[in-house]
Amino acid sequence: MQTDKKDIRSLSKEELRDFFVAQGDKAFRGNQVYEWLWNKGAHTFEDMSNLSKTTREMLMDNFVINHVKVDNMQCSSDGTIKNAVKLHDGLVVESVLIPTATRTTACVSSQVGCSLDCEFCATARLKRMRNLNPDEIYDQVLTIDRQSREHRNIPLSNIVFMGMGEPLMNYNNVQKAIDKITSEEGLGMSPKRITVSTSGIPKMITKLADDGVKFKLAVSLHSAIEEIRNRIMPFSKSFPLTDLRDSLQYWYSKTKSKVTFEYVIWKGINDDKKSIDALVKFCKYVPCKVNLIEYNPIDDGEFQQADEQATLNYIKALEANDITVVVRRSRGKDIDAACGQLANKS
Ligand code: SAH
Repeated sequence: MQTDKKDIRSLSKEELRDFFVAQGDKAFRGNQVYEWLWNKGAHTFEDMSNLSKTTREMLMDNFVINHVKVDNMQCSSDGTIKNAVKLHDGLVVESVLIPTATRTTACVSSQVGCSLDCEFCATARLKRMRNLNPDEIYDQVLTIDRQSREHRNIPLSNIVFMGMGEPLMNYNNVQKAIDKITSEEGLGMSPKRITVSTSGIPKMITKLADDGVKFKLAVSLHSAIEEIRNRIMPFSKSFPLTDLRDSLQYWYSKTKSKVTFEYVIWKGINDDKKSIDALVKFCKYVPCKVNLIEYNPIDDGEFQQADEQATLNYIKALEANDITVVVRRSRGKDIDAACGQLANKS
């Protein structure tokens, strides 16, 4: 339903307090409403049981609560849950609950579609429709926290911005969502448990460092050879590897936080010695670790996971140079919930 009323969740706590004062009420009322919205995740004004009926009706006359709705929930045989999340304007994004033995990780989206053009990613084939608002990002997290408590009896422990979209192209809203997630009124989660994954936009990485952010940074590298990277991630022609390297060195100098490089090995693309040597060299510029991600095929077969031997060659070379390397197995492949498979198929 379209309405001209303002979404109450776009107001800061200060603005809510001011609103109540302007209504001739106490500023404290703003704190109560803020807590309902952000800590208790209220979906309606009726839920706000410690407010008088008159106050609730007054809020209803002035505002709406634009909550996201889980439209479709798919469960994988490995325990992964993929949510199709419907936004107030009918657009849909996806977010994923990823279980491990002791933890639950939420993989969340930052944009509807994506502005980038990585050839191997299903989301890139949807054009970018719009940025998500802070509360739409926060709601995905809250939803997965609830699902984790319900299905696994544990709260959500980690968040990765590896769903749809490029988080650093919607940085302000991502930052606001993270502020809520980490604040005591929100989930009170440590920023060290949050990883923002970027395709590698040097100017924005420099900005993160200057802003003194506390979350972790992952960069989708996939090749440390300029021509190859430009071919598989065409947008990166505007962002030379030397600029990326400089921004990451700056990031480390400011934050002292290691960067994670995400890297898929494809047959005939980057499974050769030249590619391995280039990665090892690149890793020496900045304290980092490497996550080798399994490729999740998206359809036409242009990209294929390289042979096991190529992975072993990478591991051997990286370890010989004291670079930490981890092999990440895909989760939720049977429901298209793995990295790069999010494309609103439902
Ligand atoms: N735009 C951000 C975050 C979303 S993509 C980024 O580029 O980092 C999250 C991760 O999934 C990135 O490392 C991306 O390169 C990787 N990815 C994309 N498509 C993939 C696929 N088909 N198989 C495996 N990983 C993929």
